[in-house]
Amino acid sequence: MAVLSGKSKRVMKKVLFSFAILSVSVCLSAQTAMPDFSGLGYKKPVMYTSSKGEFEEFHDQTDVVEIGTVLFNTKTKAVVGFVSDEKTKTDVSSATTAMSVDPMCEKYYWISPYAYCGNNPVKFTDPTGEEISFTYEWEKDKNGNYVTNKDGGRNLIGITMNVTGKVINISDSKVNMDEAKNSISSQIESSFKGSVDGVKFSTNVNLSVANSMDDIAESDHVFALTDNIESPQEGTLQGISSSIGGKVEFIDVDYFTGPLDTSIGNVGQGTAAHEFGHLAGLEHSNGLMSKGAGGILWMTSTKINSSQLKTIYNTYRAGGLNQGPNWEYQRIMSPAAGRYINKRMPFRGAAGQYITY
Ligand SMILES: [Zn+2]
Repeated sequence: MAVLSGKSKRVMKKVLFSFAILSVSVCLSAQTAMPDFSGLGYKKPVMYTSSKGEFEEFHDQTDVVEIGTVLFNTKTKAVVGFVSDEKTKTDVSSATTAMSVDPMCEKYYWISPYAYCGNNPVKFTDPTGEEISFTYEWEKDKNGNYVTNKDGGRNLIGITMNVTGKVINISDSKVNMDEAKNSISSQIESSFKGSVDGVKFSTNVNLSVANSMDDIAESDHVFALTDNIESPQEGTLQGISSSIGGKVEFIDVDYFTGPLDTSIGNVGQGTAAHEFGHLAGLEHSNGLMSKGAGGILWMTSTKINSSQLKTIYNTYRAGGLNQGPNWEYQRIMSPAAGRYINKRMPFRGAAGQYITY
């Protein structure tokens, strides 16, 4: 996982860097000629990839793309620059840091009572920090020394899922964001808690409030409070997520503003926890992840059961979590500008469609 994370980070850095360069190129061209917005002037986004298809990269209405270390102008078909050595070195060092985690850690099988890993310290934290990651707790005796089992290993007694993300209000409603953040955090922590094969499973949620998309890092999980969520079928939904194992969920803002959250109860945070289940790799099944017509009101409980917790961890180990981008450009009418603009918004899922709710 650590290696994968490092790779993702490296790729995302590259993507970020591409955007930095593209932004510069847009600014420069804006000084010499106004972009063509005639007839709303929107050009279909052109797709390039510098991540071998691992991430979707939208380089909208831009001419210069980064291909490897080369900056290429797609209009003039000319090489216009190179990615600096300094940037290349930065990428390498970040990869090295990630890979320096003891590869023996791959031998962890937390469901084994004899999980063991060399001379590693008691806790292992994903060096990237800001994704769903896991830390481990090993049995100690009363003197604080690790208990050695008959295989010469330590006994795994606890596992903690760490979730770092941002709560953002993209609706027109006014919301007490600290309250929303706290209720979502505590619901997820109490729902995603239990025991698997005798190992204690707990969840530690670290959310903060984002005032704009600029506050959201590429690796953050995003909890977006939004106006009406239209169902891909018909009607509206209480919540939705970008994909199984994805990074973005949307919750109807009404649960955090009006009478609904007091008259019905913890529906808002319950919805947030349900959608987080999808981001944690869970399909619909039962308990918190049950689904009926109308969605969350049919939840049979707010609990994630033992086998679901196990699925989350196994999906994480298989590299199935922290998937995809968490933002995209959406074309919206800007009253201030008097025209359509492309605005950074939380990612809705492949092809701009919510797929899991
Ligand atoms: Zn669902």
